[in-house]
Amino acid sequence: MSTGTEIRPLVLIVSGPSGSGKSTLVQKILELPGTMPSVSCTTRARRATESSGKCYDFVSEGEFDAMVARGEFLEYARVFGKHSYGTPKKWLEESRRKGLDLVLEIDVQGAAQVKQKLPESVAIFILPPSREELEHRLRSRGQDSREEIARRLAQARDEIAAFGKFYDFCVVNEDVERAGHQAQAIVTALRCTNARLRDRVEKLLASFGGKD
Ligand code: 5GP
Repeated sequence: MSTGTEIRPLVLIVSGPSGSGKSTLVQKILELPGTMPSVSCTTRARRATESSGKCYDFVSEGEFDAMVARGEFLEYARVFGKHSYGTPKKWLEESRRKGLDLVLEIDVQGAAQVKQKLPESVAIFILPPSREELEHRLRSRGQDSREEIARRLAQARDEIAAFGKFYDFCVVNEDVERAGHQAQAIVTALRCTNARLRDRVEKLLASFGGKD
């Protein structure tokens, strides 16, 4: 039963352009004990290269629309103007029930919606070291056509231009090991803020026989 004094789990949003390496950094955050992933729903098809690390619930357009109508999403958006992606509210409920920090890997539109609904959520943006490196990474994935790569680069420009408005942290993914440490360090530091631990301090003081 809730005593009303527990620390609410963090809601951590991770965004970044396609090819910035955000999925790898999300996995690094999820290596921290006390975290859990949000599994998005999407109407796009599963890719042959889809790794098990990044999982979606693949649903039809009809199923997605029905979930929207039932108010089951914390946020949802049409990404690249093509497919729908959404974060089911059930993951937020589960994270609160289990007391685990929730990690959302979502785009800038979704991040704006979550920030509006949950102002205490924390948004981290992953930046590529340079445009050239981003293009190189997108090409070497061998996953997209030339047109698709050009579209993803244009999208990256828009996302980078927009991120300063509401993202709280930024990690430049030049060296993946260092970027992973930085992403984990952000979460560790967030767990130790004065505001978050105030209730705990109150309890500690009470165990000393109360305040003066
Ligand atoms: P991909 O199709 O390459 O896996 O993802 C395309 C984009 O959709 C990425 O920027 C990814 O972060 C974003 N995305 C994945 N899941 C969600 C979600 O639940 N909501 C929103 N708004 N974006 C998502």
